[in-house]
Amino acid sequence: MTTPNTPDIPLQLAGRPTVGGLVVPWITGRTPDGRYRFGAVDLHRQNRALTDRLCQTCGVQLGARMVFALRDSDLRLLVSPEPGMHPVCAAYSATACPMLAGRMSHYRSTSLAGQLADLGVLAHGDPASLRAGALAEPWQLVWVTGYRPFTNPLTAQLAALLLPEQILRVRPIDTPSNPNPGTETNPE
Ligand SMILES: [Zn+2]
Repeated sequence: MTTPNTPDIPLQLAGRPTVGGLVVPWITGRTPDGRYRFGAVDLHRQNRALTDRLCQTCGVQLGARMVFALRDSDLRLLVSPEPGMHPVCAAYSATACPMLAGRMSHYRSTSLAGQLADLGVLAHGDPASLRAGALAEPWQLVWVTGYRPFTNPLTAQLAALLLPEQILRVRPIDTPSNPNPGTETNPE
């Protein structure tokens, strides 16, 4: 086994709690006894971040430029189920988040939705758990100057609507094209 990749933590995130050397994002869900659940979302915080334009990673107000991490299918609709991030927080998350960094080739095969429903948290951006067991989609980082919070009629969840004229740049997140199974790690 190799040592899990733990990238340097930027100053913006220095005050955040960490688990296993990785920063716990502000919107990460917790179990009733207080443990963090990576990959699960605190719906109250997620909605607050979308409404109040807070960074999902550090919980601080976003600036004039922000970054969304979008799956290809979300990019086609210009809709992000998850809040934006500061550019520095997005750069960290793209390296540290097991899903974004492509270290998890599949979503969990077991549905978390039922377990988490009682806990007041949702599976990561996928309340219906439609993606459970599905092949993970590629992610893109999208730099924008703003967004509009709205209730997505497809999911009945609060989301961010990006307008084409607000988009500055779209860049795919680098993922290993031929990951070595020996280096894959499971953060849980
Ligand atoms: Zn941030």
